[in-house]
Amino acid sequence: MKTRIILLGILFGQQLSAQSYKKIHAKAIVVDTHNDILMQAADRGTVFDQDLTGKTHSDLTRWKKGGLDVQIFSVYSDGGLKNAYAYANRQMDSLDAVALRNPDKIIKVSNYADMLRAVKQHKIAAMFGVEGGHMIEDDLAKLETLYKRGARYLTLTHNVAPAWATSAADETSPNPVIGKGLNSEGKKGLTDFGRQVVQKMNELGMMIDVSHLGDQSFWDVIKITTKPIIASHSSVYSLVPHRRNLKDEQIKAIAKNGGVIQVNFNPGFIDKSFGEKENAFFKKHAAESDSLTKAGMDEWYMMDWLYKKYSAEAEPMRPPLSMLIDHIDYIVKLVGVDYAGLGSDFDGINLTPQKLDDVTTYPLITKALVEKGYPKKDINKILGGNLLRVLKANEAK
Ligand SMILES: [Zn+2]
Repeated sequence: MKTRIILLGILFGQQLSAQSYKKIHAKAIVVDTHNDILMQAADRGTVFDQDLTGKTHSDLTRWKKGGLDVQIFSVYSDGGLKNAYAYANRQMDSLDAVALRNPDKIIKVSNYADMLRAVKQHKIAAMFGVEGGHMIEDDLAKLETLYKRGARYLTLTHNVAPAWATSAADETSPNPVIGKGLNSEGKKGLTDFGRQVVQKMNELGMMIDVSHLGDQSFWDVIKITTKPIIASHSSVYSLVPHRRNLKDEQIKAIAKNGGVIQVNFNPGFIDKSFGEKENAFFKKHAAESDSLTKAGMDEWYMMDWLYKKYSAEAEPMRPPLSMLIDHIDYIVKLVGVDYAGLGSDFDGINLTPQKLDDVTTYPLITKALVEKGYPKKDINKILGGNLLRVLKANEAK
């Protein structure tokens, strides 16, 4: 009898959660701090107010379907690119054009209050995050102009670092393209100008993004920032020791600073065994990848091409959704529920975790959190509340 009651209870509980997760998701303010669709818009002329199902992870209609409320669009250019600032502006133009054409669906917002208003009107609230300090071209006036255009975070470095800060790639495996592993003062970390950038961002109310940063740059930021910081798209190093992930001491420091870690969905960052599978895949298709690269195809697009062409091989490489949840759960257990969020990297990653095929699937994350026993108020924080707190704190004078 007892077993039957327990069984019934489990069944009833599951049914209840299946219904309630949709409600929780619909009511929550869902924020994603990292989406790379603007890269494809600039490179390929991808127009994302069209239906791009099967081609990209994101488009306007699918964001809505996924219950997304706030998107911070990554503005990214390769570190080696000349005129990176002009290129950043071109990417921003592409979002502005989509927003102008679809005023009932998406709106650019520049502060917390406007953002809440947009969410109430059921529009996607859009902001920019500039991914890579090289795009300010060593000029604080350019940083300020990007802020005025709607950039609300700057990732201080991408893999290729500016002269004033060292990146994770630069600090751990320097090479002629990425950097010498040292800043222009011959050290790891921030230079005097790098510290001025941090100071200026604190003044403007622009969030400092430490994703991609080298350890020394990270600790230099922690030492001097007067505002809470973010990691816009990084996961947990203790679970997957990848240089793009955050170590326990860094996660604790971000929590102490009142910031937030927006977990990246990249299989390589959430699944320890992915790197090996990826190497085997590209070894197998080396002849084809070489010829595509020689024909001038950028590495990211080459990988995208091959994963799509050999999708039957790529499919089993995708980690289960539970592995992504493990990273959120790890942060929550280490420092509390106030410091985790979502920074998917959709359209910047070639493969996603299983079931998270595109931006329509955000509700599955809510479902997984409900099934793991997370209460509604905690889920709301992870889906967006934590990031909103940090955004607001950055605006405070
Ligand atoms: Zn990135």
